[in-house]
Amino acid sequence: MEIIQLNNKPFKTYISSIEIAESCTKMANQINSDYKNKRPLFLAVLNGSFIFAADLFRKINLPSDISFVKIASYSGTNSTEKINNLIGINENIEGRDIIIIEDIVDTGNTLHYLFEILKEKKANTIQIATLLFKPEAYKWNYPVQYVGKTIPNVFVVGYGLDYDGFGRNLNSIYILNEK
Ligand code: 5GP
Repeated sequence: MEIIQLNNKPFKTYISSIEIAESCTKMANQINSDYKNKRPLFLAVLNGSFIFAADLFRKINLPSDISFVKIASYSGTNSTEKINNLIGINENIEGRDIIIIEDIVDTGNTLHYLFEILKEKKANTIQIATLLFKPEAYKWNYPVQYVGKTIPNVFVVGYGLDYDGFGRNLNSIYILNEK
């Protein structure tokens, strides 16, 4: 087991790069088969999903599009009010089969926000492809169709996911090494 330091905290290997690659291939194969004769539009949610999206998308053999979206959150005029703004969608969503690519689905709040916007824009279908899913933390009912791996309510870093800005460039996924 490999122990690394990120911002003075020890982390240990949790999901190896080999296991990640296997999950990625399996998911891509499933999507290739489910979307046969379709042209899905993948929407990868930045920042965390950029590495997973790049690996998954290269294994997709369908005619397909990809766009990168970001949810910018800022405070409203009332200080307790948080306003979300979706940036990065330039495509016409109406009638499209959307696959949202997430690094991790935790509470699902991000998904909820995205779903509402995509429904408003009249997407034909909306599915979710996430590398990691924390069912214990999930607060919504949207079906999470494609899951690489289900994990408990733990904090993970690596493979696009950061801890205070560190660790996104790691090939494996790590967890805090508590004594
Ligand atoms: P949600 O909206 O589902 O609660 O959370 C989505 C975002 O929270 C993820 O895209 C990710 O950026 C962040 N997040 C949730 N769990 C973790 C985690 O275990 N580690 C890291 N690094 N980020 C997480």
